[in-house]
Amino acid sequence: MEKYDLMSDKAESFINEKEIAYTLAYARKYCADTAMVRHILAKAKEKHGLTHTEAAVLLLNEDREVWHEIAALAEEIKNAYYGNRVVLFAPLYLSNYCVNACTYCPYHAQNRHIFRKKMTQEEIKAEVMALQDMGHKRLALEAGEHPVYNPLEYILESIDTIYGIRHKAGAIRRVNVNIAATTVENYRRLHAAKIGAYILFQETYNKADYQKLHPRGPKADYAWHTEAMDRAMQAGIEDVGLGVLFGLHNYASEFVGLLMHAEHLEAVYGAGPHTISVPRLCPADDIDTADFANALPDGIFLKIIALLRLSVPYTGMIISTREGQRIREAALRLGISQISGGSKTSVGGYAAQDEPEADSAQFEISDRRSLDEVVRWLMEQGYIPSFCTSCYGNGRVGEDFMALCKKQAIHNFCTPNALLTLKEYLDNYAAPATVAVGEKLLREEMAQLPAPRRLYLQKRMDMLKEGKVVFF
Ligand code: SAM
Repeated sequence: MEKYDLMSDKAESFINEKEIAYTLAYARKYCADTAMVRHILAKAKEKHGLTHTEAAVLLLNEDREVWHEIAALAEEIKNAYYGNRVVLFAPLYLSNYCVNACTYCPYHAQNRHIFRKKMTQEEIKAEVMALQDMGHKRLALEAGEHPVYNPLEYILESIDTIYGIRHKAGAIRRVNVNIAATTVENYRRLHAAKIGAYILFQETYNKADYQKLHPRGPKADYAWHTEAMDRAMQAGIEDVGLGVLFGLHNYASEFVGLLMHAEHLEAVYGAGPHTISVPRLCPADDIDTADFANALPDGIFLKIIALLRLSVPYTGMIISTREGQRIREAALRLGISQISGGSKTSVGGYAAQDEPEADSAQFEISDRRSLDEVVRWLMEQGYIPSFCTSCYGNGRVGEDFMALCKKQAIHNFCTPNALLTLKEYLDNYAAPATVAVGEKLLREEMAQLPAPRRLYLQKRMDMLKEGKVVFF
C-alpha cells in the first residue's frame, strides 16, 4: 500500500486510507479529552484553519456545549471572510447522455427509460435567455460523460454560445463547469475557453466503495478521477471545486478525505480549492436512497458544514437545491457562501417552464422556490444576494484570491460589487415586493460603508442607471 504523502501526485498517497484510519482512531481516542478539544477550539478561533486530524477530533466530539461553540465560531469566521454576502448561481444541464454506470445517478447508461436529451446550440440559447430573464449571471454547466454525444468540443462550443448571448441587461458573466475528469490538454482548452471554476465531485474517497459504486465506464478509474484536480491545476485552471456526495460512504472518513484533498492542493499548488460543495444523495428516477446505507442525518450534515468552515476558512462553500429551505437557512449561518436558486435539474427545463417536464431530471430538488423568492428570502434574513463575478473578471483567482481572502481584504472589493449587482438585479428582474425589501437593504448597507467607498458606489449606481457600467 502507498504511504501517506501530502505532496505526492498519486491519489492513493495523498488520499491515503491508512492515514484516514489512523486519523479516525486518533479522533475516537481524543474526542472526549477536554484539554485536547479546548486546544483545537483555541486554534480554530485564530481563523486560519484546522488540519484534518484536528477537525476529525471535533467531528467525533458529542458534547452539546462544544457543538454550540463550533456553530458560533463557524458563523463568526463566515462573517470575517465572507461578510453577509451570498453568491447566487444556477445549474445548466446540457446533456444527460452518459456511458458510466454510477449506481446512485439516474443518468447511468443502463437506465433505459429516463428521457435522454442533448441540447442543440439553439436550445442552449433559449435556456440561457430563460435564465437571464430570471436575473442569473453565473452558471454551473453539467453534463453526463459520453465521448460521442458530449465530447469536449460540444462543451466548448456551448460555453462559447453562452458567453456570446446578449439578452436583457447583459450577459452570463461566469460559466463554471462540472464535467467528468479529463486530460491536461482538455483542461487547457477549458481554461482557454475562460471557464470560471472547474468543479468535480469525488463522490466517495473510499477506493473500495468507489469501485462498487462505479462498476464500469471511464469513471470507474479511481486514480484518474481523484487526480483530476491536479491535472486541472497543472493545465492552468486556478479555481477548482471539490465535493463528496454524502450518503455513499461513512461520513467521518469522507470528511477526512475531503480535507486531505484540500490540504494536498494547497501544499502542491499554493492555493486550496476555490469551493467545496456538500451534496447529499437524493431520490431520483430509478434511484432509491433506501438502497444506500450511509444516509447523513441533518444534525451531522450541519456539523460537517460548520467544521469545514473552521478547517478551510478561505474556501467558498456551496449548497444546492438538493436541500430545502430549512436546512439552507441553517447552513448559510454556518458557513455556506454560494447557493443555487430557481434551479432545474432536467435538460431544457428552464425554457420549458410551463410545459409538463419530460423526465430527464438528475435528481429531485427540495427547494422549488423561484430565484426572486430566494433573493427576497435572503434579504429578509439580512444577507446581500450577490451576482458578482468581478474577482474572476479582474483576474483575482487562485493564489491571488486566497491571499486577499486570508487578509480579510476581499470585503473591500466584494461588498460594493455585491451591492452594485444587487441593484442591477432589482432594477431589471425583481418583483415589486422584492424591490421594496432590496432598496431598504441597499440603503442600510450603503450607510455602513466608509464615505469614500460609499460615494464611489453611488457614482457607479448612477452610471448603472445610464447603462454605463461594464460588468466582468
Ligand atoms: N458527469 C460528471 C461527473 O461524472 O462528474 C458530472 C456529474 S453530474 C452531472 C453532477 C453530480 O451530481 C455528480 O457528481 C453527483 O455527485 C451528483 N449526483 C448524481 N446522482 C445524484 C443523486 N441521486 N442525488 C444527488 N446528487 C447526485
